[in-house]
Amino acid sequence: MATTTHVGSIASEIGGEDIALTVLLQPGVEAHDFEITPAAGAAIEGADVILESGAGLERWLDDAISTIGGAERVRDLSIGVNLRGDDPHYWLTAPNAVVMVENARDALADAAPEAAAAISERAEGLIERLETADAEIRHLIDEIPEDRRSIVTDHDALGYFIDGYGLEFGGSVFPSLDVTAEPSARDIEALVSTIRERDIRAIFTESAVDPKLARAVADETNAELVDEPLYTDSLGPPGSGADTIDGMLLHNATVLHDALTRD
Ligand SMILES: [Zn+2]
Repeated sequence: MATTTHVGSIASEIGGEDIALTVLLQPGVEAHDFEITPAAGAAIEGADVILESGAGLERWLDDAISTIGGAERVRDLSIGVNLRGDDPHYWLTAPNAVVMVENARDALADAAPEAAAAISERAEGLIERLETADAEIRHLIDEIPEDRRSIVTDHDALGYFIDGYGLEFGGSVFPSLDVTAEPSARDIEALVSTIRERDIRAIFTESAVDPKLARAVADETNAELVDEPLYTDSLGPPGSGADTIDGMLLHNATVLHDALTRD
């Protein structure tokens, strides 16, 4: 069993036919909250291995496990990542995604030792793709002029990307690491002032967050509301090109690049 769409995609790619996979979250929903349905409870109970993104993202899984049991079957894919405080969105850089893949590989190979060689080989292929994506992302971000690198997003999900690839945090519509608390009128006012003062060019929406507030902020400033969403808490839907971990990272870099280099 895998929790998020990212974890599910990695497990599916490297486990292949050697595993039977259930992914709890659907594309397009944010990952901080999840209501445990009876089916989800049964999946947790029946799984040999439970892969979680970890780093504090899936509090809802911790709660479920404390009732259902199974803590010893949970494998946290963030182990070994250099975390930014309590920010769980570490999967949004290619080097961190490589750590995820390695952790998933080890967890699946432990659970299915007879398939370890095949799992390892598929993991190697995915790691190579992530390394290629990493180089392409650096190239795209390098093309953005220094004075255009401040970005505003829906929620504060891009900290790892910003630090890892040389952008600047201009603010977020939901001024927090999750979207459970609505911003106050004062929060919105402060963000509008920052965007005006720093002449921030673009506000980026996210696939799993309602863009209504972001649109309201854009209306009060000269910033463009970028309709093509970033994929943060969820991968893109099947066929979107952002439905794999490397495809999602490249998609995000391309959306940022295109909006910030436009005249
Ligand atoms: Zn998030």
